[in-house]
Amino acid sequence: MIDTKKPIAVIGAGTMGRGIVQVFAQSGFDVKMHDAVPAAMESAIASIGKMLNRAVEKGKMEKADADAAIGRITPVDTLSDIGRPQMIIEAATENPTIKIEILKSIDPLVEPGGIIATNTSSISVTKLGAVMSAPGRFIGMHFFNPVPLMKLVEVVSGLETSEETIKETCDLAETVGKTPLKVNDHPGFVSNRVLMPMINEAVFTLQDGVADAETIDGVMKMGMNHPMGPLALADLIGTDVCLFILEVLHRDLGEDRYRPCPLLRKMVDAGRLGKKTKRGFYSYE
Ligand code: NAD
Repeated sequence: MIDTKKPIAVIGAGTMGRGIVQVFAQSGFDVKMHDAVPAAMESAIASIGKMLNRAVEKGKMEKADADAAIGRITPVDTLSDIGRPQMIIEAATENPTIKIEILKSIDPLVEPGGIIATNTSSISVTKLGAVMSAPGRFIGMHFFNPVPLMKLVEVVSGLETSEETIKETCDLAETVGKTPLKVNDHPGFVSNRVLMPMINEAVFTLQDGVADAETIDGVMKMGMNHPMGPLALADLIGTDVCLFILEVLHRDLGEDRYRPCPLLRKMVDAGRLGKKTKRGFYSYE
């Protein structure tokens, strides 16, 4: 069982990693955070601090609680300095080679019987689990962006993931205030298998000149009651991330309906990756 009094570790301090670190620290866990780029950890600490301060200013949190949460986060430059945590959550770059290398390195670092989870959006949990010494204790824990605000965790079981690991991971998600939904490992899981074809179709609609971006998003927001249009959502996720996931769906499910729209590819080639580069389907200058 996961013990709130024992530390956990998060690998990767980018958009998702820092959010995961924040929710665990806010829930009382001591969290070791590691990123290959020290500047990413500095920026993570600064952005977590900013978010917590905003919560204090709005009266949603006591200053002492915000300070305590920040105090529970320890950035470590060297991976082995994460110690022997009961759980390690991998949230590094969506690249199978990078992830497999990280997983092999953290395999001996987790405490015996501990759980290793990946936050991958699209890589097979079964395939990643196959490199672990205990595939039964390996699982997908797919958080959503922005992590501190989004309730859902898609808990993804690989072929070898044990029932006990699934249960403990769901319990843990609830402990940090999230709602777990259990799914089986399959390309795109549920979330991206349903979402990405919609985003792709919106890009085809734009490419075909049916309407401009604002109109396409407006139709989906007002007509379908979506809080955000699909093109604005693609900018938030990153057009490169969308393209990567569509390529996985296209390759692994082998159907033309998942082929990435040429305009999406063009956007990525041009470096219009969305909010993170200040330009995507919209401008964020
Ligand atoms: P990101 O690019 O913002 O951050 C990735 C971080 O990983 C970077 O800081 C990078 O320096 C670090 N990293 C790379 N190689 C490393 C290594 N060998 N060791 C340690 N750190 C390393 O990416 P992100 O958006 O935070 O995505 C992280 C994971 O979360 C991916 O698997 C992604 O598919 C998944 N995810 C992303 C979203 C989203 O909306 N962005 C949503 C759900 C899941």
